[in-house]
Amino acid sequence: MARKKIVAGNWKMNTVPAEGVELAKSVVAGRGEVCECVNFIVCPPFTHLSQVVEAVKGSDIAVGAQDCATEAKGAYTGEVAAQMIAALGCKYVILGHSERRQYYGETSESLNKKMAQAYANGLTPIYCVGENLEEREAGNHFAVCKAQIEEVVFNLTEEQFANLVIAYEPVWAIGTGKTATADQAQEIHAYIREVLRSKFGAAAEECPILYGGSCKPSNAAEIFAKADVDGGLIGGAALKAEDFLAIGKGF
Ligand code: PEP
Repeated sequence: MARKKIVAGNWKMNTVPAEGVELAKSVVAGRGEVCECVNFIVCPPFTHLSQVVEAVKGSDIAVGAQDCATEAKGAYTGEVAAQMIAALGCKYVILGHSERRQYYGETSESLNKKMAQAYANGLTPIYCVGENLEEREAGNHFAVCKAQIEEVVFNLTEEQFANLVIAYEPVWAIGTGKTATADQAQEIHAYIREVLRSKFGAAAEECPILYGGSCKPSNAAEIFAKADVDGGLIGGAALKAEDFLAIGKGF
């Protein structure tokens, strides 16, 4: 079975609701120009998840959140529960993004709890892994990704693993304009799949592994052509419908 091809847009802390709705509508409007085989996901800020779900209704574009709480409900001021996200009609949640690991102290411990919340509420996690520049230069990128997977993904059941998307995002390539070369991406994606295979066996062949880090229309096709790259998690270029869709044409 061919793996799912996915292009997911992480809007980060960009767009006010009206802009988000307009962006989502533009993606819907242009979606027909891209192969039906590509699964598009948009991940707006919490504030307009509901309006974006409404804006993509009737299309095959899915909506995801950029994070969720470690707990189910209760006295956790400022947090947003997976149950709330799912209730809006979202299907995905990004977990472990490097910006959350770096700026908000996200750890494997908190991520294990968030993954549990996501699954308990029927959300598919897009679990991000990736090394920073220092780790890459020291040749530690394999070990870093392995640990990020072992400490979280290895705790999943087989059933949960069958409903997981992984995003490899080298921190040094995020928002910097520096992209991993297609060969660098393939090398580590194949390695990540090997790590997954060591725990989940043949099911690892079905797990989509997305590349993220300054992916844009001009480099998507070369990266997506690699055997173990199943699409992209797109930051900056997801804020322009035309570019986001053009990345989908990279398949
Ligand atoms: C991201 O943060 O998920 C990302 C890939 O960002 P960018 O495409 O802007 O590098």
